[in-house]
Amino acid sequence: MGVKDKQTANPSLKITFHRYNTVIVGSGAAGMNCAVHLYEFMCQKGFSRKESAERIVVVTRGLALGASRMSGSDKQTYYKMGTSPDVPDSAEEFARTLSNAGCCHGDLAIAEAIGSLREFYHLVQVGVPFPTDSMGSFVGYKTDHDPFERATSAGPKTSKFMSECLQRQLERYGVEIADNQEVAHLLTVGCGQSRRIAGVVTVDRKSLYRVRLRVNIYLGANIVLAAGGPGELYETSVYPKGQVGIHGLAFKAGLVGENLTESQFGLASTKFRWNVSGTYMQAIPRIFSTDAGGSDERDFLAGYFPSMSKMATNIFLKGYQWPFDPQRIENQQSSLIDLLVFNETQKGRHVFLDFLHNPVGHSEWQPQAQLGDGKPLARTRGEQPSPSPGDEATRMEPPTGTFNIEALEPEAYQYLKRAGALQDTPIDRLFAMNPPAIEIYKQNGIDLYAEPLEIAVCAQHNNGGFAVNKWWESNIPGTFVIGEMAATHGVKRPGGSALNAGQVGGLRAAQYIVNVYGCELPDYSASEDEITGQLDQLFAKFDKYRAVGSPMPKVMIQRIQKRMTLSAGIMRESKTARRALKEAVELYRLIQKNGLSAPGKRALVWAIQAEHLALTSVAYLKAIVELLRQGGGSRGSHLVIARDGVEIHPDIIVGTTGQPAAAGKVLKFKPENPSLRDSVLRVAYDDSLPDMFRCESVELRAAPSDAKAFEPAWRDFREGKIYRENEG
Ligand SMILES: Cc1cc2nc3c(=O)[nH]c(=O)nc-3n(C[C@H](O)[C@H](O)[C@H](O)COP(=O)(O)OP(=O)(O)OC[C@H]3O[C@@H](n4cnc5c(N)ncnc54)[C@H](O)[C@@H]3O)c2cc1C
Repeated sequence: MGVKDKQTANPSLKITFHRYNTVIVGSGAAGMNCAVHLYEFMCQKGFSRKESAERIVVVTRGLALGASRMSGSDKQTYYKMGTSPDVPDSAEEFARTLSNAGCCHGDLAIAEAIGSLREFYHLVQVGVPFPTDSMGSFVGYKTDHDPFERATSAGPKTSKFMSECLQRQLERYGVEIADNQEVAHLLTVGCGQSRRIAGVVTVDRKSLYRVRLRVNIYLGANIVLAAGGPGELYETSVYPKGQVGIHGLAFKAGLVGENLTESQFGLASTKFRWNVSGTYMQAIPRIFSTDAGGSDERDFLAGYFPSMSKMATNIFLKGYQWPFDPQRIENQQSSLIDLLVFNETQKGRHVFLDFLHNPVGHSEWQPQAQLGDGKPLARTRGEQPSPSPGDEATRMEPPTGTFNIEALEPEAYQYLKRAGALQDTPIDRLFAMNPPAIEIYKQNGIDLYAEPLEIAVCAQHNNGGFAVNKWWESNIPGTFVIGEMAATHGVKRPGGSALNAGQVGGLRAAQYIVNVYGCELPDYSASEDEITGQLDQLFAKFDKYRAVGSPMPKVMIQRIQKRMTLSAGIMRESKTARRALKEAVELYRLIQKNGLSAPGKRALVWAIQAEHLALTSVAYLKAIVELLRQGGGSRGSHLVIARDGVEIHPDIIVGTTGQPAAAGKVLKFKPENPSLRDSVLRVAYDDSLPDMFRCESVELRAAPSDAKAFEPAWRDFREGKIYRENEG
């Protein structure tokens, strides 16, 4: 298989070259799926099973790592086109939902819509246990005002099942998975328009414990990057530990980023990293905080809601209005809860969900009337209740604002009633709705029957990533980006659409590779000098990482994480972001100049990660600074603080941790600037610039609108015109 050992002058290194048609980086749901499709398309092109399998490799730092393998929620959602037998859905409707909050390319949205069911059924075929009814319909549910019941789930670990089932398929096909490979560099050849990524250089993590360090070089005619989101960028994060990503390496290789500003944040448990969406919040737990020592319990939400009904209903709604959304904070909506939790943690306090007790109200709340069917009587703080005369079911809520399930607003009450979850305590309601949601914490050492669950507002997902066209090809021909690394989502996305996008992207990339670039192995003999030059530089850098007295990589990573959480999290502010960008640039330059202090071989991986995370943080901060400069307001999952902005509540003060410029003042936010919805902010690495990244706003691409009759469409397909821009 063209594997060539190359002995170097350095006896402590063992370098091995490998050659494949396609090298896929990342073994999450996206990468695995792309590998499965590639193999199948190659076989369809006439290659034998062995020939097809030998042409593909999946390279990963850990088969058991990454968001697909390690993350989830109460019932992790897969969002697909509707499969309900009695509710019609269409690809155009689906694409509209994906793109209607702006900054989403129309061709990507429609491609994700059209490919949705094909990929969903592909997962069913490889064995993901999505539930059906007795007639075979795939049962769906509604997420957040979705009338098509597009969401489905295989339980709390949907994405784990996806990647495991796809892995088994790859193993049946005999495709190699190179595990324990830390990506250290993306090899490039050529420049300008003819620049290509020729391969991936990895450090074998297992060899860190042996005498000789093993370095692998996976050369590929095509490269598919599926290394997930930059989870380790943030201090407060629900990304699984060890989900580093390779964004910094990809920027350096010349890939351009889009929508990097659109990270998503939401409530998640921190001891065991898991989203507390869905039934965790629909069970309506008590939410309280303590001081750092665990004393001074406070039911801090109560001061900001006018009644128990409003507060408890909003806790319920957080279940399916999960990410923090600045358009849901005014007038006591559900994202006010994220903001209050964030503010509490900014004061150094700890916040918990308590499933043994119902929410505790405010002693000043007035008694509230409600109807036995859960219908509320609209009322604001201080107003007297006005029950409907003669309504037999009308009762009075106890005067202290005690929780009363029948006083919930109709959406919440009816949901719980239909779900058979009107029990007296949150834990009983959670058990009635979703016992695996309790079990998953038990498996991870947390007994929800015995202890409260610590939560925070955590970084969870990046809607942005690297720019791709409608075949998920990046700006560098032959390099594709799929899954969370690809910038296919807009400012908002429906919950579950990340998994759909990852599958469709892998299918489209595989289709394009096999039909356009072919299945041959690469020949980079003409570029040997370039490749050798880059390897020499890389190994020289490894030596520099041994410099005693330079900064420690782990310390650098912690510094990056703290800065990102403070300046690039749910609250953003121009002055603070500019200061953070300046510090991030200085840190990266310092690492370039002085190296890092990683004297032992085992620390080498930390040093590699620290360097590329440092560059990633510059890219993200540069995008944030630029968007704020363009007049960007609060959108997606972040709030922009502005002195002349909208006040939420006089008692909501900007936290003092990390001293944002507005610290200690009443929080005022700048509403969204809708004029920015029609463009996407791009960033590209350019070391000659003071901030190291060039920014550009690009117009949104529209969805193709030329529906053809069958015969011409068939001809385009036969002649391969569908792969040629502006032809098919
Ligand atoms: C708590 C949580 C809950 C979520 N819930 C949902 C949900 O309900 N619905 C939904 O659609 N989405 C959800 N998401 C998002 C979704 O899980 C991810 O977007 C998706 O799984 C990403 O898949 P991926 O294949 O792109 O990357 P991942 O699954 O993250 O895989 C990345 C791969 O790259 C490898 N890798 C990473 N860095 C390196 C490196 N430096 N060198 C070598 N290899 C590397 C990893 O080991 C891994 O194999 C959730 C995310 C989280 C964190």
